[in-house]
Amino acid sequence: MRIVQVESPKFDRIRTLADQVEISGIGLHTGKPVKLIMAPGRTGRGIEVCRPVAGHQLRRIPVRLENVLDTDHCITIGRDGVEVCTIEHVISALAGLGIGSCEIFVDGPEFPIVDGSALPFVRLIQEAKVVCTDEERRAWEVLAPAVVSQNGSFISAFPDKCRRISYTIDFAHPVVGKDSVSLEIDERTYAREVAAARTFGFLAEVEWLRSRGLALGGRLENAVVVGDCELLNPPLRMPDEFVRHKILDAVGDLSILGAPLIGHVCAYKASHRLHVSLARQLVGAGMVRNVPYADVAGDAVLPVRRHIVHDGAFAGRADAPEFSVAAQA
Ligand SMILES: [Zn+2]
Repeated sequence: MRIVQVESPKFDRIRTLADQVEISGIGLHTGKPVKLIMAPGRTGRGIEVCRPVAGHQLRRIPVRLENVLDTDHCITIGRDGVEVCTIEHVISALAGLGIGSCEIFVDGPEFPIVDGSALPFVRLIQEAKVVCTDEERRAWEVLAPAVVSQNGSFISAFPDKCRRISYTIDFAHPVVGKDSVSLEIDERTYAREVAAARTFGFLAEVEWLRSRGLALGGRLENAVVVGDCELLNPPLRMPDEFVRHKILDAVGDLSILGAPLIGHVCAYKASHRLHVSLARQLVGAGMVRNVPYADVAGDAVLPVRRHIVHDGAFAGRADAPEFSVAAQA
């Protein structure tokens, strides 16, 4: 058991969910129906993706850099032969709301795309309620400028006191074109200004993607679809929805570091691949250091009310996930 604080979570403790919540949908790339359950995390385990496998076993895949298998059009993580793809919008919602501990159960190989944004997951998390654990919240502090580039695209990170992302897109397309947005990412800005931005795709690329087994679940309901000269499903939710979705992706992809990145990230025409490459470079080249979150961000300590929850939503519980799995400690 561990003590958690409910209502007004402290900023320097790891946050988790008070309850479990679920959502169903189809996978953007596989087109397959899938159910996802978000539940309070286990102590010291961060964000974990849990997938049932043959023999009523449950395979846990920590959402960490070392478990990233692929970054082509989405983030795929895996371990011991079990993979899950398109996790980026869910982990973006968790990171955007400052949640560092969560078990995500999924009964298929891909997370549901829902409406193509992170908003359904933000609402789900709000419905579950955010609470604090007694674990110290950590952060990655950027120590020196780092840059990764590829074919005229780049992403860089600079030391800064806050968590800022400045993003520029530049498409040779009359509808999407060039746009830039710079935001300091916290729970409020994320929920208000990032979460609702939907993924987008070009009609001209659909056949090519499908020939590669991608976008099989792509629909007008789960992505902004761009034709040669117009949107197929207008209107946009915000005038700069395209670049804001790139920020949404970057928040999720960089959360693969396992703790918030305190620094200024600047991206130009970047991609999942470059986002993850930056994370690898920062850690691999020692350009970040892992510090208590309280040392690098704010000093507000909010009021606390306490209650007790069991450690790990499904530890020893038979009533939890509807797709029955044998939870492993
Ligand atoms: Zn995305």
